[in-house]
Amino acid sequence: MAKSDYEKLLKRIESNLSDDKKGSASRFELPPVDVMWEGQKTFLRNFAEFPKVLRRDPDKILQYLSKEFAVPAERIGDKAMFIGKRDPDDFTRLFQIYVKDYLECPTCKSPDTKVVKENRISFLICEACGAKSTLKGKYA
Ligand SMILES: [Zn+2]
Repeated sequence: MAKSDYEKLLKRIESNLSDDKKGSASRFELPPVDVMWEGQKTFLRNFAEFPKVLRRDPDKILQYLSKEFAVPAERIGDKAMFIGKRDPDDFTRLFQIYVKDYLECPTCKSPDTKVVKENRISFLICEACGAKSTLKGKYA
């Protein structure tokens, strides 16, 4: 069994064991990325799952990935297409950074936040502690 699979398994067991998840600042659970290559293109087949889980604008998330990879990207149905070959790990890493920069409340680290625009400035409002913070970037 690969090490990462083993860790995943452990995590699953851990999360099954702890039924007092509510209230604790549990780490944000991202869906596993489903990547497919076709020639010199990379398809993120389950792209549509991420905006749902992250509760952010799909267009902004696509722009974010496109900018970080520095390649053009396009949405095709539920999929996203990127020019060039990308590893699933590249996507996972970027989504983790996205969660840190655009979801996590800087005060209490809760990912239960929403973005509110005031005078064209985006703020992060935390649904757990109520803190209001400015966003570091423009992809939310
Ligand atoms: Zn908070």
